[in-house]
Amino acid sequence: MLLSNIKDFFYQKLCFICRQKCQHFLCLNCENISKNINACKVCAASLTNNKCECCLNNDFKFQSTYALYTNDLYFKIIIYAIKNGHISLLKYLSLHLAQNFQESLFINNLPKPDLLLPIPLNNKKLIQRGYNQSLVITKILSKYLNIPYNINILLKNKHNLQTQHFLNKLQRQQNINNIFTYQNLNSLKNLHVAIVDDVFTTGATVNEIAINLQKYCSSISNVVIARTKYIPLDNQNIS
Ligand SMILES: [Zn+2]
Ligand SMILES: [Zn+2]
Repeated sequence: MLLSNIKDFFYQKLCFICRQKCQHFLCLNCENISKNINACKVCAASLTNNKCECCLNNDFKFQSTYALYTNDLYFKIIIYAIKNGHISLLKYLSLHLAQNFQESLFINNLPKPDLLLPIPLNNKKLIQRGYNQSLVITKILSKYLNIPYNINILLKNKHNLQTQHFLNKLQRQQNINNIFTYQNLNSLKNLHVAIVDDVFTTGATVNEIAINLQKYCSSISNVVIARTKYIPLDNQNIS
C-alpha cells in the first residue's frame, strides 16, 4: 500500500497545459477545450460566420483539411514538443488525432483517404531531431485507420530550408517553391490522398504539394494535429 502511494507520488502525471494531475499528458478538460467544432471544411480555420476569410484570400488546391485542434495554445505546445524531441507527447497527440479523425469521418459519412503522404524532412533536420514528426503521425494514423502510406512520392530536395514556423506568409511562399521532388506520381491515379503534418499554419506548404499532385489524384486532403488561427497577410509581421 505504502509502496504504491510512493510510486503514485513520483509517477503522477501533470497536464501539459493546466498542470493539474491527470492520467496522461492532457487532462480531459484541456483535451476537449479546443477541439475543432465550427471550422472551415477546406482549410480548418475557425469560423465566426459561415465564410472563411482564409479560403477567400488563398487559392487552395486541396479539398479538405481535418485539424484536431484549432487553438494557438495547442500549436505552441506541439511546436515545443517537437523542437524538444518530446516524441511521447507527439505520439499521444497523434493517437488522439487518429481517433477523432476516424470519428469525424464516421459522423460526416465520409470515406477514408486511400493513401497517406507524410511531408519529408531534410537529412540535416532528421539528424538533429532524430525523427520526422510527420512520419511519426502518419504511421499512427496508418495503423489506427488501416490506410497505407508511401514515403517514396514526396521527397525533400534542399538541405538548407529555413524552419517554416518562424516565417511570414510571403517568406514561406518563397521558401517552399521547388523544395520537393515528386516521383511515382502515376501510382496516385484516382486516389484520395491525405497529406499528413503536425501543424497547418498558412497552408503554403500543403498547397504547393497539392498543386503538383492535383492532376494525378481524385482528391487531396490534409490531416494535422493543430491549425493556427488565420491571420490575414496585412496583419502579419513582415520583416
Ligand atoms: Zn489540463
Ligand atoms: Zn477555409
